[in-house]
Amino acid sequence: MSEPTTGKVVLITGASSGIGAATARRLAADGHHVVLGARRVDRLASLAAELRAAGGQADHRELDVTDLGSVRAFAAAAHERYGRVDVLVNNAGVMPLSPVDALRVAEWDQMIDVNLRGVLHGIAAVLPLMRERGTGHIVNVASTSAHRVDPTAAVYCATKYAVLALSEGLRQESRDIRVTVVSPGFTRTELTDRGGAAEAQAAARAAMEQLAIPASAVADAIGYAIGRPGDVDVNEIVIRPTVQG
Ligand code: NDP
Repeated sequence: MSEPTTGKVVLITGASSGIGAATARRLAADGHHVVLGARRVDRLASLAAELRAAGGQADHRELDVTDLGSVRAFAAAAHERYGRVDVLVNNAGVMPLSPVDALRVAEWDQMIDVNLRGVLHGIAAVLPLMRERGTGHIVNVASTSAHRVDPTAAVYCATKYAVLALSEGLRQESRDIRVTVVSPGFTRTELTDRGGAAEAQAAARAAMEQLAIPASAVADAIGYAIGRPGDVDVNEIVIRPTVQG
């Protein structure tokens, strides 16, 4: 099966900042139609306007990945407008860090809801559309935390290990759609800005300030995977700062 390597309709969750926004810039520059989703619509609107002003094709829609109806509406709107959904980048994520015995149960639930359930919602929304066409590509953003566990990150790591597992399961069950996991290490974004226990969050912020690579480096990896021919499935890219242990 061969499909065009540019001009794809690409849905990006969590496109209002960080890796999602950088991915939108990279993919729009590559000639793809990007559809941006997140809760901060003002940010999405200004990014979409920036991309269009640069000659790209971009639109946006409010999206909460924890709400299956919202994710389905996001995918359906793109499908209605463009007649297809070629790629979904399941990127939205949160990382409020804390030791397990702090029992910050609401934040555990939030990580499970956004990082894991959100990815499942994305798959549920686009898989029928892709199966019907017999082609498609799902890119799940996991983490190096899908490969190793660190203190204060147990629940975050659990969600990312789960994303890796479900991606591999989906890949094994698919002969028509491609499944890629992109697993970044420390990347300079807003990820450490919200929630978590103060000490754990400050340590993560300090590590990020010292070590992190730019979000564009991860966007390049996503762009690479999407840009391969349809019969080439890049299963996982792990990308981290050279100085990260
Ligand atoms: P940012 O905080 O900059 O971006 C996170 C994005 O997720 C935002 O656009 C945010 O948008 C969106 N988001 C959060 N909750 C929801 C929700 N309920 N519905 C829709 N969108 C939501 O961080 P990053 O760019 O770093 O994070 C992107 C991905 O990269 C995440 O999955 C993260 O786990 C992963 N990652 C990041 C690493 C890093 O070092 N930065 C390392 C490894 C993985 P809004 O608030 O507007 O909804």
